[in-house]
Amino acid sequence: MADAFDVVVVGGGHNALVSAAYLQSAGLSVVVLERCATLGGDAATEELTLPGFRHDVAASAHTVFQQNPLVREDELGLLSYGLRYQRPDPVFVLPFEDGQSIVMHRDAERTAQEIGRYDAADGAAYLRLLSDWRALAPLQGAERGRPPMDPEEFARHWRSGPLGDEGLRIRMASGIEIIRERFSHPRVRAFMAWASTLTFEAIDEAGTGLLPFALTAGRQQHSWTTPEGGSGALIDALAALIASRGGRIETNADVTRILLENGRAVGVETRDGRRLLARRAVVSGQHITEIPGSLPEGSVDEESMQYVRRWRAGLTMFVAHYALEKAPSYRILGGETSAVAMGRLSSETSLLRQLGAFRVGETTQRDPFLLAINSSLVDPQRAPEGRHTLKLISIQPYDLAQGPLHWDSVKESVAQAMLDAYLPFTTNLSRGDVLAAALESPLDLERRNKNNFRGSGHGGASDFGQYGYYRPAPRWNAYRTPVPALYLTGSTTHPGGSVSGYPGRNAALAVLQDLGIPLADVIARARAQ
Ligand SMILES: Cc1cc2nc3c(=O)[nH]c(=O)nc-3n(C[C@H](O)[C@H](O)[C@H](O)COP(=O)(O)OP(=O)(O)OC[C@H]3O[C@@H](n4cnc5c(N)ncnc54)[C@H](O)[C@@H]3O)c2cc1C
Repeated sequence: MADAFDVVVVGGGHNALVSAAYLQSAGLSVVVLERCATLGGDAATEELTLPGFRHDVAASAHTVFQQNPLVREDELGLLSYGLRYQRPDPVFVLPFEDGQSIVMHRDAERTAQEIGRYDAADGAAYLRLLSDWRALAPLQGAERGRPPMDPEEFARHWRSGPLGDEGLRIRMASGIEIIRERFSHPRVRAFMAWASTLTFEAIDEAGTGLLPFALTAGRQQHSWTTPEGGSGALIDALAALIASRGGRIETNADVTRILLENGRAVGVETRDGRRLLARRAVVSGQHITEIPGSLPEGSVDEESMQYVRRWRAGLTMFVAHYALEKAPSYRILGGETSAVAMGRLSSETSLLRQLGAFRVGETTQRDPFLLAINSSLVDPQRAPEGRHTLKLISIQPYDLAQGPLHWDSVKESVAQAMLDAYLPFTTNLSRGDVLAAALESPLDLERRNKNNFRGSGHGGASDFGQYGYYRPAPRWNAYRTPVPALYLTGSTTHPGGSVSGYPGRNAALAVLQDLGIPLADVIARARAQ
């Protein structure tokens, strides 16, 4: 006989686990099915290079996650399941080739002084940006913590704050417009452009105007929020919470079919032919493009299918993981410093050139945008004593002009170029300090996790761009899908990629609403446990 649950959750990424955590805490019986041997998807932590070196396979910073009521209000008691964060100072450093630098300190005034060394007006503008964010942040939180709004409601929402019409204009502007309006000095613009690209969205596209505010202010407030033990510690905490409340989690459980009865989702079938039935709902963390293939032919109407076909990946990344002999130290103005995060971007125009190259399928090997993360600096358990982990990320296209498979030919040379562009900014590292490497091109990212569709690591979009009004489209809107009782969560739902947990929480809220279970009851029940 098939196993039966109230809710079957497909996928064990952090968003699916967040959905499962809310639904299990509501007293429903939940099973989570993950196709890989390890839970976590892009929030897993694994020994990718050498024994004892624990690398975050993708996400490292949980800064965006700090805004989610799951953490901010600890709605479900997750923080008592061993999840602890380091909030390092400095937050990050951005050294330049000529020995100049800008450092983000935890103290915003100190960061403004760093910026003011280049241009006093830009230093003041930085503090003004942070104070404007205080007016915009509640609007953004409200937008992200609920289903996407229709265009009229969206416009009303963004006009309703203390900045009035300017709030809506900022929301719809591009990040680069905002940076150029507010800052003059090329170095300061580079600093702002680098920080605004940390969620790997193209900041020259309309609808990215909040990123210069949100990504700098978020890091000023929460620092480079680093989970102790790696991103996998969040996954472990979620799994422990679900299990302690009676939920079941299975790995090596690849869901190949979503079962329907009279057009309604009633369960799933796994690759090995097992059937697991869902009395109330199926919540899927699959990529939106994978859903139609899991359903009987013709279950999705043509309008909804068109939306799926139009789905395009966001910016894609090349990731190089290294096991290092020692921690990097960075050359900064007047000295050197270690830092959990380091950036490399010579100017905002260089970023625009790289986005242009990306769009025509060219790699960037000269003067690349780089993000370097040395998590073991603040979390020594990530590496054997005295040794360190490093992750280097650059923006590179999945769709090379020669086709994605060409990545297997150029991967090594792109990685070499990235390391060559990085090492001169350190005072103490050479190639001899690299003990081992694990390289992942955008194609490899997709091979490891099909949810990194066409190399994307932060979701993607259809129709209206990353922050469009319709994510997902009409008929896929608001976590409910064209199929009754089938819900969608994960980075292809509003508000998209990152370890934010919002798609997970929002999808759970949609299920709870349809079942008539108030969130307040779930929170009260979780707190009583
Ligand atoms: C290199 C890189 C660096 C990043 N850095 C950061 C960062 O520092 N901070 C940040 O906030 N974000 C970062 N991101 C983005 C972030 O990691 C992702 O947006 C987020 O982890 C996605 O979570 P998810 O739960 O939606 O999906 P995923 O993590 O992709 O999980 C989906 C899971 O579902 C499983 N699955 C799918 N289909 C099935 C099926 N049919 N049956 C069973 N299981 C299935 C998959 O195997 C996978 O485990 C980064 C991304 C990348 C690629």
